[in-house]
Amino acid sequence: MTRLVSLRLLALLLLAGLFDFASPAVAAKRIALSFDDVPRQAGAFMTPGERTTRLIAALRRARVRQAAFFVNPRRLEEPYGQGGEARIAAYVAAGHVIANHSFSHPSLTQIGPDAYIADIDRAAAWLHGRRGYRPWYRYPYLDEGARNIQWRDQVRAALAERHLRNGYITVDSYDWFLDDLANRARRAGLTMDMDALRDLYVEIVVQAANFEEATARATLGRSPIHVTLMHETDLEAMFLTDAVAALRADGWEIATIDEAYRDPIAAREPNAAYLGGGRIAALANEAGRNPRELIPPMNQEATIQRLFNERVLHITSEQ
Ligand SMILES: [Zn+2]
Repeated sequence: MTRLVSLRLLALLLLAGLFDFASPAVAAKRIALSFDDVPRQAGAFMTPGERTTRLIAALRRARVRQAAFFVNPRRLEEPYGQGGEARIAAYVAAGHVIANHSFSHPSLTQIGPDAYIADIDRAAAWLHGRRGYRPWYRYPYLDEGARNIQWRDQVRAALAERHLRNGYITVDSYDWFLDDLANRARRAGLTMDMDALRDLYVEIVVQAANFEEATARATLGRSPIHVTLMHETDLEAMFLTDAVAALRADGWEIATIDEAYRDPIAAREPNAAYLGGGRIAALANEAGRNPRELIPPMNQEATIQRLFNERVLHITSEQ
């Protein structure tokens, strides 16, 4: 009897061992960070210089080794862009990289491919040869011209000729919208629950990441390295460390942006009608999914506005 039990136990242990061996531990979810519209307009919480200092410190504290900053050189001519060149250099000195987000942030759908490509070239002329430069192009508004296939393909061909790769995103943090609400409230002198603001920001980031991860697994059958779309905002300067900690607590690992753009999805320009929701959503759309199913539930302006009113301003919306 004792012998039988121990044999059973041995069999169980072996099975457990084999099972472990046969199914490698579930691969960690991986994500890299990117920030757009650099140098971005000033927020209401700090100067652009303080924002850069705090953002660099937050990235260091969060042990994010390498994020990308997508630059619009036209913004350097604005009052808020004063000192922007030194701030961009500071990101690079801290280990991060810079890339092309167009010169003046146009929408392809609005200005058409010829003017659009000229604008990319103007930004490239500013970026070329700078330390930390990567040959990646991020479409402003994620507008890849999907409504006009000819325009879309003309710009894609122009990028290829220039050896620029699409600096796509997979996870839209919708940070610009929440940042805008917070800045307006601050300027209006409203009392804000800053802990609730932090928690709301963190919640939106984590839900968007998990939503895209689920879509990726369903579409690709594997987990790609994700890329967040964030912006150079006061919100990130204040709460980025919290967002990264929450991602890690949820099972995410932080990848470098160089690693992210080596993922196989970097070589897959989707032939999809829906390109504005990032690469995973576009690949899912290409595979037949309806765009309405491809938007993370909290990534709606009305939803964020309502949650901001309720949780941060403690105002119950009338409905
Ligand atoms: Zn932008």
